Amino acid sequence: MNYQKPKGTRDILPQTALKWQFMEEKAREVARLNNYGEIRTPTFEDSALYLRSVGDTSDIVSKEMYEFKDKAERNLALRPEGTAGVVRAVVENGILNEALPAKLYYFSNCFRYENTQKGRYREFSQFGLECFGAENPEADAELIIMVDKYLRSVGIQNSTLLLNSIGCPHCRAEFNKALREFASKHTDEWCVDCKRRAVENPLRMLDCKKDSCQDILKNAPSILDYLCPECKEHFAKVQAVLLSAGVKFILDDRLVRGLDYYTKTVFEFVHEGFDGKTLTIAAGGRYDNLVEQIGGKSCPAIGVGIGLDRVVELVDESLMTKQGLLFVANMDDVEVSKIIPIATLLRNNGNKVEINLNNRSFKAQMKYANTIGAKYLIVVGQAELEQRQLKVKNLETGEYLNETIKF
Ligand code: ATP
Ligand code: MG
Repeated sequence: MNYQKPKGTRDILPQTALKWQFMEEKAREVARLNNYGEIRTPTFEDSALYLRSVGDTSDIVSKEMYEFKDKAERNLALRPEGTAGVVRAVVENGILNEALPAKLYYFSNCFRYENTQKGRYREFSQFGLECFGAENPEADAELIIMVDKYLRSVGIQNSTLLLNSIGCPHCRAEFNKALREFASKHTDEWCVDCKRRAVENPLRMLDCKKDSCQDILKNAPSILDYLCPECKEHFAKVQAVLLSAGVKFILDDRLVRGLDYYTKTVFEFVHEGFDGKTLTIAAGGRYDNLVEQIGGKSCPAIGVGIGLDRVVELVDESLMTKQGLLFVANMDDVEVSKIIPIATLLRNNGNKVEINLNNRSFKAQMKYANTIGAKYLIVVGQAELEQRQLKVKNLETGEYLNETIKF
């Protein structure tokens, strides 16, 4: 029986894992510089948490969630996104009673039952940032600037930032009314999903991926015309701060995001580099009502999820520092066991070291060192063991380094 990985999952092998490590290092760095602390939450939670936060009419919950019952009949779900679990943890651990804002970052693997394609998988990873307890527009701007910096730090210079405000529940009620009215003028033209959305959650129609619906929506009312004075002012300030920070954006009044919990600012960084298709590489927004909605005290918040499986496709590998491999070879009359203390010493000094673990002849070791791309070579013969001194050859230039190593 040959086993295969489940559809929509991938094995990340060492060569690609180097890119993941690079992305993660840069992510931790940008988080640290902005005073974010790491949080790690469970891979599964009560299904109800996602129903309540992501929203039961969202695609994520209604179509894509991996739900199961455990042996005690608990209804659980594999994490479909990172924010809900973090909000649950923040409330449960009393973090909002401490000094605010509380700034947290995470790396989470997420699970969604989706049609798979390049950049869309059933298990994927997000680097997420969540900032609790800051209602000012500067917090929105700081987070967006962080994402911009992060993407540039891994070599992504040409993503496009789309920005919108979907207002507070107040403005949205008015807008939903207008949208419903607009929808009713085109009753037969909508896709099945949008027919349902028009009743349940009209805003969601704007997010429909069907061209036919998008065509009709070109004439739909704009949320920006329905913002209350406070939401309008907030949004203007976010834009002003971004402009002064040199972060370019495009206003997109159709951007609503696929989750129910957003308020005011929403944004996406999109990129065209996926076999000619445009995909969102990072998406987020403000969610001032979510904490209260899932049982915490009222607390404004803003967050973003960066899709690392998409970022990894765009990483500029030339920015990655690669450490050269040092191969320590034993001449045919030297036992491999004599090499172990030498390798240990070299490793203690920070070198990446490989030795002859397969009893290869000296000649075969030279071939092997070449195959595995060793950059440096040390040859240990009887003379080296007696003098307790080693020479290091740079295999790329063929020259010996000036320094010798004593052991
Ligand atoms: P999309 O519109 O591409 O389906 P989404 O709106 O469902 O994305 P979010 O829930 O906002 O995505 O998740 C944040 C980010 O996580 C996305 O911008 C994307 O980069 C990444 N992401 C979401 N779903 C997947 C997936 N199935 N595979 C890989 N990455 C994903
Ligand atoms: Mg999606």
